[in-house]
Amino acid sequence: KAKESGRGRALAFEADMEREVRERREMEADLREAFEYGKLATEFQPIVDARTGKVVSSEVLVRWYHPTRGEIGPDTFIPIAEHAGLILPLGNWVLKRACAAAAQCPELNSIAVNLSPVQFMDPNLVEQVTAVLAETGFPPERLVLEITESVFLKDFGTASTKLAKLRELGIRIALDDFGTGYSSLSYLRQYKFDKIKIDKSFVDEIGERSDGLAIISAVIALAHNLGLEVTAEGVERKFQVDALRTLGCDTMQGYYFGKPNANPMKITDVATEDWDQPVSEETSPVAG
Ligand code: C2E
Ligand code: MG
Ligand code: MG
Ligand code: MG
Repeated sequence: KAKESGRGRALAFEADMEREVRERREMEADLREAFEYGKLATEFQPIVDARTGKVVSSEVLVRWYHPTRGEIGPDTFIPIAEHAGLILPLGNWVLKRACAAAAQCPELNSIAVNLSPVQFMDPNLVEQVTAVLAETGFPPERLVLEITESVFLKDFGTASTKLAKLRELGIRIALDDFGTGYSSLSYLRQYKFDKIKIDKSFVDEIGERSDGLAIISAVIALAHNLGLEVTAEGVERKFQVDALRTLGCDTMQGYYFGKPNANPMKITDVATEDWDQPVSEETSPVAG
């Protein structure tokens, strides 16, 4: 009897696996079709200068609106694209769209583009990026490539050579989702970056936990001591803005300023006109 129910469980497990494999294969086929028929989209999210309140950069984020499943987020479909061997052409397309759009926005100092680990490890990456810059006439100094710690789990030598080559071209490198991995600090020591993007989970803890502010304050100071620029991600609330400005964070990104949308320059109607003034002591949660 016990044997039988064990067998039953094994069969159910097998059925689950089969369904999963089938679903994945379907999604891959759908994604390939969407990409080939030009059904993917790009959106931009503004990045705001913490001192002036002006939009100085923008991050391109890829979008997939599935005909029956609705919107599928990049956290879900980028791994599918990697598995399907689609990520290189897809990533190249995103990069091209980003550079072309930013070329039309001289007010933007830079445009930020995410690279998946598979893209980063592609031996042709440097040539591909160089080709896109040439084709769009976009200067490398205005391109920021965002990578996450996961690209370093593979091979130290290849990764650091790759980083150096990109930086030699004048491209800047941001370490995305800073603080969420296993050894963010040791990566800062081993590799040369231009900026870090503090993950939303840390911004969320400003005002939520008593040590939230202490941690973000330490991270900003550390980054600045290493000569790195700091962007805070996922900024949604006014008190977070005030705290981050007081702590000397360089740039901010989040729904408070604007959701990803078609226009790289568009920010929500937030009052930033008075931002030339220092943050007032009463409104800042950091004061005292
Ligand atoms: P990310 O690079 O860390 O991008 C930030 C994510 O946070 C975006 O989600 C953005 O829409 C979301 N976000 C920004 N501000 C706020 C906020 O105030 N509140 C909340 N709740 N969320 C906010 P999205 O667009 O779903 O992208 C998820 C991830 O997918 C990105 O994380 C990035 O790692 C990856 N991704 C997006 N586009 C691309 C791409 O073109 N290529 C590659 N390789 N990866 C991409
Ligand atoms: Mg990013
Ligand atoms: Mg991030
Ligand atoms: Mg992310």
